[in-house]
This record gives sequence, C-alpha cells and structure tokens, in this order.
Amino acid sequence: MNSPSDRDTGHAETPYLVFGAPQIGEEDIAEVEACLRSGWLGTGPRVARFESDFAAYKGLTPDHVAAVNSCTAALHVSMIAADLEPGSEVITTPLTFCATVNAIIHAGLTPVLADIDPVTMNIDPAAIEDAITPRTRAILPVHFAGRPCGMDAIMAIARKHHLVVIEDCAHAIETEYNGHKAGSFGDFGCFSFYVTKNLVTGEGGMITGRDPERIARARMLALHGLSRDAWHRFSDSGYRHYQVVEAGFKYNMMDIQAALGIHQLARIETNWLQRERIWNRYMDAFADLPVNLPAQPQPDTRHAHHLFTLRIDPQRCGIERDAFIEALHERGIGTGVHYISIPEHAYYRERFGWRAASWPAALRVGRETVSLPLSAGLSDRDASRVIASVREVIQERASGA
Ligand SMILES: *Cc1c(COP(=O)(O)O)cnc(C)c1O
Repeated sequence: MNSPSDRDTGHAETPYLVFGAPQIGEEDIAEVEACLRSGWLGTGPRVARFESDFAAYKGLTPDHVAAVNSCTAALHVSMIAADLEPGSEVITTPLTFCATVNAIIHAGLTPVLADIDPVTMNIDPAAIEDAITPRTRAILPVHFAGRPCGMDAIMAIARKHHLVVIEDCAHAIETEYNGHKAGSFGDFGCFSFYVTKNLVTGEGGMITGRDPERIARARMLALHGLSRDAWHRFSDSGYRHYQVVEAGFKYNMMDIQAALGIHQLARIETNWLQRERIWNRYMDAFADLPVNLPAQPQPDTRHAHHLFTLRIDPQRCGIERDAFIEALHERGIGTGVHYISIPEHAYYRERFGWRAASWPAALRVGRETVSLPLSAGLSDRDASRVIASVREVIQERASGA
C-alpha cells in the first residue's frame, strides 16, 4: 500500500492509488503528537473542542452534539435514546453499508427496506409510504454519496405517521437541503469519521440532535450508562463518584481521535472544493462514454461529493462491473463498491426471508455501481490517471477490442 507521500516524492513511477486514502496534514500530526505528549489520551479537552467546533460548523450549540467512536455507535445509541419499543419497525434503504441495518437490529428493532430511486440512489419517499405498517416507528434515510434525500417528503411522512427520523449522515458532513444542513432534519443525525470518509479521525463519529435531553442520554449511553457527572472524571477538577443509571456501551471518542479531527474539520471546505473540482472533471471526461454518471445535484441542495459512482451496464459498456474493477486494479487504481444491496447478503436473507429482487432498483444499482477515487488526498495528476484509465478500459470494450 502506498502512502500519499510516496506520490508526492515520486519514489514510485505509478504508485497504486488506494481508494479513499486519507489526507493527513502536518497540523494533524502535530496535534496528535501534542495530545500524546499531554498525557491525556482518553476523552478530554480535545474531544470537547472537536464537539464545539463541529457544532459550530453545523450552526448548533454544543449541547446538540455528542462525539462517539463510530457512526455505527452513533446510530445504535440514537435508536436507543429515541425510546422505540422493542420490535418496532425502522424503514431504511437497501443501498447502504451493513452498519445501518446492523445498528437497527442491535437496538432491538426490526429493519424494513424501502427501495431507492435509481436516479438519485436515495430512498424513494413513495416506497417509504408503501412500507409503513402499524408497527413502523422510525425512518432511517441515508444521504447516499453525499446527495441529500428528499427531506421535505420524508419529514412530511414522518409527521403524518408520528415517526422518529434518524439521518445516516456518514457521507453527508457538508450536505445541505433547501438551506438546512444534513443531520438537522431528523431527531438525530449520525456522522462517520472513518478513514475513507470526508473527515477522518481513524475511527470516529458524531451524533447531532434536535433535543439536548436526548443528546445527553445518547452521550450517557455511549459511556457505560454512567450518570452525567461521570464526564467530570475526565477533567482535573478532582475525584467524583459516579452512578450507573443505564446499561450503556463503550462508545466514547478519545482525545487522540479528536486531535486528528480538529484540523480536518478546519480544512473541510477546502477539501470539499477539491473534491468538487475532481467530481466536475470526471463528469466532463466521461460524458461521451456509455457509462451512467451520477445525477447532477438538485438546485437548492449541496452535494457533499463523498462518492463518485459510475454505473457499468454490461449491455452498453461491453464489460461487467467486476471485470471493470479488475481492469482498473491492473492499471494501479483502487475502487470501491457502494453497495451490493443489503438483501443480497446471506445473513439478512436468512434472518428476514428477504429476496433481493423485491427491491429491484437497489439490486440493479448494487450490481452495476463502482466508486472512483475521490478523496481530498487525490491530486489533479492522480485524477488525470483515473480519467485516462477509465476511458481506456471502456473504449477498448465498447469497441469490441
Ligand atoms: C461508513 C458508514 C457507516 C459506518 O460508519 P463507521 O464510522 O465506520 O461506523 C454507516 N453508514 C454508512 C452509509 C456508511 O458509509
């Protein structure tokens, strides 16, 4: 695996472009070093700063956010803090990472899938309506690739049926819809700072929420279920006893993680611009190819440009998606698949009796989609290499060579 610095120093002629390689700056390294030298590694002052910076970025006060150690954890404790009775149904998309569905299961709830709109790749509000039963208690939309879901329609359904809304914002830190930021529509928003995401803390996540009481509960659940005072253990104000008030989890973020995140967050807009530039270059460069490009962002929205997905229809492209991935790999370019549809995985099929064909749009997208490199660590030269390689592979096949 090549690090971004290999590319800069040119040690290798054509280093492998690792999909989703993070961009780590000198200021990130210095902050982590300062954290280590401070001796304060666990949850402490850097987490508090990262939380207040993130809240400010979202236009919230710090009592509306809670840092945790993954988006999966954020989803899990949000659903518990939402107080849904066991077995309640939660409607989500079949085109998501398994963590979305696993979190529903671990919260003691029942996942119900509603198909995507194949153009936006986001959950289709009409399909949500169709999936509602007397047991439905929540909707869990995923802003796929950073494109906002149709939140007006989704929130209208939620109001009509008195449903909790938990937004999976793993791709959507910068996303906006009609002037409002992703994570501010529902009762909770759950963010990921995993290595491939737009902001990286190694592992990490954030919960945003409308109700500070529920955020406080999520925060408590993320730290063993200890009483709120327990957080003062992480300060120098002296020893305090704590009480366990719920059976919680070990989901708190460490200062080492927050140290990475603080300057990543400060760069988030610059990095977004760089990804937007690459996104637009890809759109132009592939316009004449027989591939399906992502839909252009809608007016009055902001796309986070987390993923650039091509759809490889084997009929039109003369190549299967997996062979396309292999051909790019041979040219030193790593790609990703987001995602094989959830009901194609054995576990869910067996547990819930799902058949992938019941969600045909997600099934088809899941079999055709491939994500090209789009991280802020990607240089313009790297993007040129991706463009040349994609064109080469598709043109060879499409012409029957
Ligand atoms: C990455 C991701 C998650 C999980 O995030 P972690 O921080 O790795 O737990 C959840 N949902 C979606 C859509 C993701 O892409």
